[in-house]
Amino acid sequence: MASIPELQHTVGKTAGFSGTSLHTGEKVSLKLHPAPADHGIKFKRKDLQDEPTIDANIDNLKTVERATTLGEGAMRVHTVEHVLAALSAMGVDNAVVEMDANEPPIGDGSAQSYVDLIKKAGVTAQEQPRRFFDVREPMHVESKTGALLVLLPDDTFRISCTQAGPNNRFAQFLSTEITPAIFEREIAPARTFVYYEDVQPLMEKNLIKGGSLENAIVIRGDAVLSKEPLRFADEFVRHKILDIIGDLALVGRQIRGHVVAVKPGHAANAELARALAREQTRRSAMSAPRAIPLGDGGLDTDEIMKILPHRYPFLMVDRVIGFEGENKITAVKSITINEPFFQGHFPGHPVMPGVMQVEAMAQVASLLLFKLAKTTSRIGYFMSADGVKFRKPVLPGDTMFIHAELTKSRGERLAKAKCHCVVNDAVVSEGELMFMFLDK
Ligand SMILES: [Zn+2]
Repeated sequence: MASIPELQHTVGKTAGFSGTSLHTGEKVSLKLHPAPADHGIKFKRKDLQDEPTIDANIDNLKTVERATTLGEGAMRVHTVEHVLAALSAMGVDNAVVEMDANEPPIGDGSAQSYVDLIKKAGVTAQEQPRRFFDVREPMHVESKTGALLVLLPDDTFRISCTQAGPNNRFAQFLSTEITPAIFEREIAPARTFVYYEDVQPLMEKNLIKGGSLENAIVIRGDAVLSKEPLRFADEFVRHKILDIIGDLALVGRQIRGHVVAVKPGHAANAELARALAREQTRRSAMSAPRAIPLGDGGLDTDEIMKILPHRYPFLMVDRVIGFEGENKITAVKSITINEPFFQGHFPGHPVMPGVMQVEAMAQVASLLLFKLAKTTSRIGYFMSADGVKFRKPVLPGDTMFIHAELTKSRGERLAKAKCHCVVNDAVVSEGELMFMFLDK
């Protein structure tokens, strides 16, 4: 019997609260808004011109020093890990986190205030199935600082974590499944802890104006300083688990797997999140259609040439196999020895130039953007390519499948697309392309 797929969830209604920001010490208010299926979690800066938003996505991770910072262009949002942990663990897949400052209120240094907020807003099911990352084989990351994170297959999301301070003081261990109920009861109340020797220089430089014993536990030698006594005997390892959940939320999917973490930190957590995202990208490229269907749904060369101005020898798409939803496209290009570039690249040793693969990605992404554009009075210009990697040579006789996914469309003027070229079930090249629309 097929099981009923788990559904995506968003918050039931808008809800908010205010508090102090850790780094500036100023007042900040945060609101959670419902968002449609497949939207993911986005942060919105209400205090900036045009109120820009940013995806809570590992691609936007900027720094992990002491806390997790997301950024795009000049926009930043700091210390996002606790609110993301609460949203992820409480099962909220889609929401807008609106703030009138560059970081959320610190609360009491735990995720308690965010759990309270999510409960106030309510959590409601949507129609689309939830996206999971299923761990299929062990993965691990290791850092020079002694952090080791291993991810193992498991039917549930589980974290087993150790924490140890300098000279192995306060060594703690906890292993638990993460469900909304367990998170709320066992993990969310665990507060941030800091070592006196680490925060002293920051206090002197006035970098944590909002920091106090009301929102962090300070460990000085063997002494534990806090306004309120410890909430759990092993509160520190619980907070480490909270941070892992928050950082892994940047993968944008619920994880089914067992995280085994030794001395974790934001840098190692982020590295694991990156490894998961890379694996997800590889899997998505593999699962896209790679057979050429008969009949409708795609575009033939004639139809492509009605949209794209490119012609021989510069048209790098033979056929569009199909569109998936609003923002995905798969196209195909057969590479033959008759390609003009093989004459010079290289004589006796034909290899498709990488830049021609990027050109193919740009043309396929343009076809997608054209389909999305409501008006044809604009023309999209290829602006930049980020993270371009050429992984395998493309040779005469290869059939190259070109995938593009629109990841961001900012306003009416800018669009970003994640692209891959696949030959024989292997990603041969990839890159993130940016386009700008101008009136013709
Ligand atoms: Zn934390």
